[in-house]
Amino acid sequence: MIANRMKNLHPYIPGEQPKDRDYIKLNANENPYPPSPRVAQAVCAAVKAHPEKLGLYPDPDSNLLKEAIARMINKTGGVLCRTNVSGENATPSDEDKIPFEVTKDMIYVGNGSDEVLSFVFYAFFDGDRPLVLPEHTYSFYPVYAGFYQIPLDKVPLRNDWSLDTQKILKDANEMNTSIIFANPNAPTGLALTRNEIRKMILAAPKDRVFVVDEAYVDFGGQSAIPLLSEFKNLVVVRTFSKSLCGAGQRLGYIVASPELVNSVTTVKNSLNHFPVDFLAQTAGIAACDDVPYYAECAKKVASERDDFIKFLREKGWFVIDSCTNFVFVKKEGIPGEETYKAIKKAGILVRHFSTPGIEEFLRITIGTHEQMAALRQVMTDLKI
Ligand SMILES: *Cc1c(COP(=O)(O)O)cnc(C)c1O
Repeated sequence: MIANRMKNLHPYIPGEQPKDRDYIKLNANENPYPPSPRVAQAVCAAVKAHPEKLGLYPDPDSNLLKEAIARMINKTGGVLCRTNVSGENATPSDEDKIPFEVTKDMIYVGNGSDEVLSFVFYAFFDGDRPLVLPEHTYSFYPVYAGFYQIPLDKVPLRNDWSLDTQKILKDANEMNTSIIFANPNAPTGLALTRNEIRKMILAAPKDRVFVVDEAYVDFGGQSAIPLLSEFKNLVVVRTFSKSLCGAGQRLGYIVASPELVNSVTTVKNSLNHFPVDFLAQTAGIAACDDVPYYAECAKKVASERDDFIKFLREKGWFVIDSCTNFVFVKKEGIPGEETYKAIKKAGILVRHFSTPGIEEFLRITIGTHEQMAALRQVMTDLKI
């Protein structure tokens, strides 16, 4: 009864969402802050003024949302934490200024970046050669590779957990193939600078798409978006789920050349013509138009993260540097799974991966000041 292709499916395992108890949830890299109050206001106002819109198909191409995303990127340089905010105004720091205007036709928007990534895999990666990626990066990439039957070339990280960019480039050139990774990377939290990304793209195959997933860039990384004027094969993937406090809205997008955006749109129109619903489009537009709110949230998370890293290191934990909203930590001689269980018993959920090579680690999402204070207490009292 079941089609043969089902054998290639190895579903993603998301962070657990238990309902048995009110846990402090630091396991899915969600933002601890709610969306801007303007988001709920916009959604309520839209439903009240136009209830009929819930009965009509939405704009299939989310045109107003694309325009709002373009406005947000031009205003911030594509990195909230490094954006200067004063009152209602936001300006990018000098080094993040984008040397051209990001326009609507450079944006594709879908139901969360997971869906967008699925279309990116379909549109740009062939099954006749391996896709090159780091061994430890976002764990959904191998799931899509299985779904679309794209072989993978997984390049081990260096000893310091950074990307082995030389080996990645060597393999990609030898096989004339595409590259994908998250920057900042997950679950390590380390980032390449824009200049390092630029050097990589210069040295990578020119006629193959180079994908950078910037899910965490707003918490301190540098965006590759300014490089789009230079590289027609660059695809930058972004999400509303982390820095835009919008995981429940399911919004993600790519920024790329209009040609590549058209290819992804063709995939969408061959599968689900109306991907982003009316409410999510409305919510997304309101979010993009309140940059100062989200920049403040990102800064609070980043400052809480830096304090937490200091605390952990003083307590003898090994912590990889992070410019994301999570930290990746381990303690010599203590299996990650045991710490995870002990912390869960105390009412806090963090993430443990049983993937070989990183099973000693815990990935801890940065929460509010109160949540982190509770976690500090638990980690201080740990008896394992
Ligand atoms: C969270 C995350 C995503 C998925 O985001 P959604 O928009 O919620 O689907 C994609 N890539 C990376 C690296 C992530 O961490």
